[in-house]
Amino acid sequence: MRVIVTGGAGFIGSALVRYVVGDRGWDVLNVDKLTYAANLHSLSSISSNSNYRFVQADICDIDAIHRVFADFQPDAVMHLAAESHVDRSISSSAEFIKTNILGTHVLLETARRYWDELPSGRRASFRFLHVSTDEVYGSLDDGGFFRESTAYDPRSPYSASKASSDHLVSAWHETYGLPTLITNCSNNYGPYHFPEKLVPLIILNALENKPLPVYGDGRQVRDWLYVEDHVKALVTVLERGRIGETYNVGGRAPTENLTVVERICDLLDAHVPSDSARRKLITFVADRPGHDRRYAIDPTKIETELGWRAEKTFDTGIAATVEWYLNTAWWWRPLRENVYSGTRLGLLDKSALVETELSESSE
Ligand code: NAD
Repeated sequence: MRVIVTGGAGFIGSALVRYVVGDRGWDVLNVDKLTYAANLHSLSSISSNSNYRFVQADICDIDAIHRVFADFQPDAVMHLAAESHVDRSISSSAEFIKTNILGTHVLLETARRYWDELPSGRRASFRFLHVSTDEVYGSLDDGGFFRESTAYDPRSPYSASKASSDHLVSAWHETYGLPTLITNCSNNYGPYHFPEKLVPLIILNALENKPLPVYGDGRQVRDWLYVEDHVKALVTVLERGRIGETYNVGGRAPTENLTVVERICDLLDAHVPSDSARRKLITFVADRPGHDRRYAIDPTKIETELGWRAEKTFDTGIAATVEWYLNTAWWWRPLRENVYSGTRLGLLDKSALVETELSESSE
């Protein structure tokens, strides 16, 4: 199996590359632009394997992507490269439109032309897997679950850009017959997660006795999935999914943000006792503009049709994640010191931004 993975230096992409290179023995070409969110140290366990290669390239660069396909001759593409942080999409949407929409278009067009020229056997087995999010479905304010048939209703610049890319992928299948698959997954957490996202941000702020910012009332629900379960779902869909189909991927673990933060505090108190309970650091801050209230995935289709099921519960996954951050400071400390220290992103109101920064720096 020769697979191009885009975004393989990011959080989920690196977990996927570690799994398919290390555990499955696939030949992988990781194509990544190396934005702030990338980290090649996340791949140190497999980077010298002979079945792994890396090329630094922007998926919007048609010539570079064309060369990648021509040189590597893939059997499949697993497309994860994206701008992925909702808060950053609120402050600055242009990169989201470029990478998530135009970059996906470049990949689809290049893949289509390449696939058109393949001999019939390889043409029949070629696959293009597009990795997307449950955020395209909008907010489940009245309860219920996202199913593959749920209408798209994206609310943030990030989710709108991912929804656009999903529609492009479906169109390339319907119009040109490109053998595509789409997965829409809930919130991931786990090792090697860039510390701008809720789980690692809370773990590291709590370790440093800093305020633990909780947006709004903290009652927003996300359906948490351990990243290593997600990458096994992606491999399952690539190997056994029906062409042209969408699969929702979730761990049946809808949990309020405040509960997530409290659980992390309690785990850290147990591992690294502090003078006072870390829950006291919880600070309610201005909500994210347009913050979706509730996401919850119905993963029945991937479970029954393809036999995938999340192995970790939220309890076992969050415990493993906290332990990983406690044992792996070599990975996250340079990011906190040099790339992103945890200041608030994505507020429209400048005075609120200053307020949050002041409250953090008054420590
Ligand atoms: P991430 O931000 O950690 O990593 C993204 C990677 O893409 C980085 O390595 C970055 O350098 C690379 N990249 C960005 N722009 C690029 C470009 N123009 N050309 C080439 N590479 C580029 O993201 P993640 O959390 O690992 O998410 C991966 C994918 O999964 C994304 O498509 C995201 O929408 C989707 N997803 C994420 C989650 C989640 O909870 N994190 C949930 C569902 C779906």
